[in-house]
Amino acid sequence: SLSDRLGGVFDRLRGRGALTEADVRTAMREVRVALLEADVALPVARSFVDKATEAAIGQDVLRSVTPGQQVVKIVHDTLVDMLGPDTAELDIAVTPPAVVMLVGLQGSGKTTTTAKLAKLLSGRERKKVLMASLDVNRPAAQEQLAVLGQQVEVATLPIVAGQQPVDIARRALQAAKLQGFDVLMLDTAGRLHVDQALMDEMKAVSDIARPNETLLVVDSLTGQDAVNVATSFSEQVPLTGVVLTRMDGDARGGAALSMRAVTGKPIKFAGVGEKLDAIEPFHPKRVAGRILGMGDVVSLVERAAESIQAEDAERIANRMAKGQFDMNDLRAQLQQMRRMGGLGALAGMIPGMKKAQAAMASGAVDEKILLRMDAMITSMTPKERAKPELLNAKRKIRVAKGSGTTVQDVNKLLKMHQEMSTAMKKLKKMGGLKGMMAMLG
Ligand code: GDP
Ligand code: MG
Repeated sequence: SLSDRLGGVFDRLRGRGALTEADVRTAMREVRVALLEADVALPVARSFVDKATEAAIGQDVLRSVTPGQQVVKIVHDTLVDMLGPDTAELDIAVTPPAVVMLVGLQGSGKTTTTAKLAKLLSGRERKKVLMASLDVNRPAAQEQLAVLGQQVEVATLPIVAGQQPVDIARRALQAAKLQGFDVLMLDTAGRLHVDQALMDEMKAVSDIARPNETLLVVDSLTGQDAVNVATSFSEQVPLTGVVLTRMDGDARGGAALSMRAVTGKPIKFAGVGEKLDAIEPFHPKRVAGRILGMGDVVSLVERAAESIQAEDAERIANRMAKGQFDMNDLRAQLQQMRRMGGLGALAGMIPGMKKAQAAMASGAVDEKILLRMDAMITSMTPKERAKPELLNAKRKIRVAKGSGTTVQDVNKLLKMHQEMSTAMKKLKKMGGLKGMMAMLG
């Protein structure tokens, strides 16, 4: 993974002040390989690396992180920036009917996505939606949409045999206007490869229907070819956005970056399964983590930033300053860890926490252990929570009984608390939680 690669590169750099151009360029070679492995198209990977390099050179390495982590954060932020925005909505606030047209290669998921979006709009947004299939190439394509329409309880345009796409589009528009539909969704035909006949057909339909949204539907498993697909389509019809399908599979998501870079249009939705509710708004941060293939650093940094509340940090920092870190603080920490998905990741990020992690459990730290610790702290009296040293043998037995654990477990918890207060004191010396929070943004 990228973090392993960078780890190797940066082991030599530990402790330096600012990231030098030479260091950054060495690191970016690894970033480029990681991007290509994630199926980002070559020219896109190149221009991305240029951007990230520019952002990284000369940045100071923060005290609380390694140079590798710092570069990962910069690369990640650049990636999110290029993938964004994450609030893409369909632009359908127009005089009805709003027209949404879906285009793309055959099998990319247009018909399925048409039904998914129709379901979304008719359900959550209570829009009156009409769907029409313009696919006269594939046998039974129009019937496929009619069946999906029944499943999602959305109207479809009655099928008239022998009509051409342009005529169907005209008829659909008229029906939508006359029958007071809010949104008309046009599902178009695809080809296995981009060809001119298809493009001409799409252009003709686009001229007649004047869509408010023209969404390019792309299979996220499309590798290096993604650039060609995006280029051809965006040259021929005015795209307004992209939908990436099959994000439930093991695609690393590189197509997302390629699509975004080539079309310049927002990725609005991600298809995450065959079921008709398997569609989500596109999350640049999630996809960035996937492209980089480094669950550890990036997602931790992201989740930490999301879930650590400023007040919490402030309060703990203040208590640390007074040399206090009691069981209530520990409990707050444990709850935070549960929200962030485990101590392992957190421990990797905070210097000095590795030891606490080791003390916490020899095996995997899972939700159950965190919950059990929470139960032990709950079984303590307020006085014991504030002053854990009060816990003598007799009190430990009571806590163990109260929480359904053993005295050994209670001892482990106390040991961990001890280790953590030591780590917290060290952390304070190194610039404190606040410094770390500032870095997490
Ligand atoms: P079209 O030719 O572009 O209209 O593609 P279809 O909508 O007919 O989809 C082709 C196949 O891909 C169907 O079997 C769909 O169920 C499947 N499909 C579409 N979107 C997704 C997705 O997001 N995830 C998965 N796993 N399958 C999908
Ligand atoms: Mg289709």
